Amino acid sequence: RAKSQQRAGHFYFSRSMGVEIRERVRMMHALRTAFGQNQLFVVYQPQIDLATRRPVGAEALLRWQTPDGKFISPDRFIPIAEYSGLIIELGEWVMRTACRELVDLRKAGHHDFMMSINVSQVQFRHPHFLDILKRALDDTGAPPQNIELEITESMAMEEPDLLIKMLGQIKQTGVSIAIDDFGTGFSSLSYLQRLQIDRLKIDRAFVTEITGSARGSSIAEMVIQLGRNLGLAVIAEGVEDERQAQILQSLGCPLAQGFLFARPMTASALNGWLSNDALEGAA
Ligand code: C2E
Ligand code: MG
Ligand code: MG
Ligand code: MG
Repeated sequence: RAKSQQRAGHFYFSRSMGVEIRERVRMMHALRTAFGQNQLFVVYQPQIDLATRRPVGAEALLRWQTPDGKFISPDRFIPIAEYSGLIIELGEWVMRTACRELVDLRKAGHHDFMMSINVSQVQFRHPHFLDILKRALDDTGAPPQNIELEITESMAMEEPDLLIKMLGQIKQTGVSIAIDDFGTGFSSLSYLQRLQIDRLKIDRAFVTEITGSARGSSIAEMVIQLGRNLGLAVIAEGVEDERQAQILQSLGCPLAQGFLFARPMTASALNGWLSNDALEGAA
């Protein structure tokens, strides 16, 4: 009986696998078409100085809206873009688009503004990644000092030697590096110390926990302390309410990003949002 169940289980498994692969291939084609037909665009979510509540930068986030108006989440299509290799082209396009938007914002008077760009490990491992980055900076005229690349903590743990070398080369361009989703991986402190990084992004999961149990803030607190000890900037992501913002600030977290302050928005909306904010600040 156990045996037949096992078989049945196996049969079911392989059939659903087939469905999954077919679905993935379908989405791969759809994504490629969507990219060709300009269904993909970049939105920007402001990053805030918690003490002054003023914007200091934005994170570029990719969006896919199908012709019937539906949005497909990057959590679903980025893995497909990675799997198919399209992420190389797509990632370069995001990088250049975000650089161009930064240059436009500077022309509108936002000179210290930082632009954060997510980089997939597939892009990062590409032999020409550094050239792609330099070309994006050169062609757009975006100042490297105002550009930050976000890599995930899980990515930071693989192939330490390659990563350390790459980070060194990126640092030489003047671009800074943040570790995204920090706290969800398991990088050791000694290893972290060897990486030339500038910023830790506390994962949203730990920001959400902050207002929960008595120990809810312990991981966020630890990351903030760690940042201070290693001389790294810290930003909290996914801040949704005022209490979270206040606790983070009291724990010494300087920066935050989340729906409380602003949702990701188009380039032109960001331009308007920043100008309004500047007016409010002056008033
Ligand atoms: P991430 O880099 O950690 O980005 C933060 C995500 O949290 C974004 O989701 C953002 O919209 C969302 N978020 C921000 N504030 C809040 C909040 O207060 N509450 C909640 N519930 N969510 C908030 P999004 O845009 O759906 O992106 C999901 C992930 O997809 C990103 O996580 C990133 O890993 C990936 N991604 C997005 N754009 C790109 C891209 O251009 N390149 C690459 N390689 N990955 C990207
Ligand atoms: Mg990110
Ligand atoms: Mg994140
Ligand atoms: Mg994430």
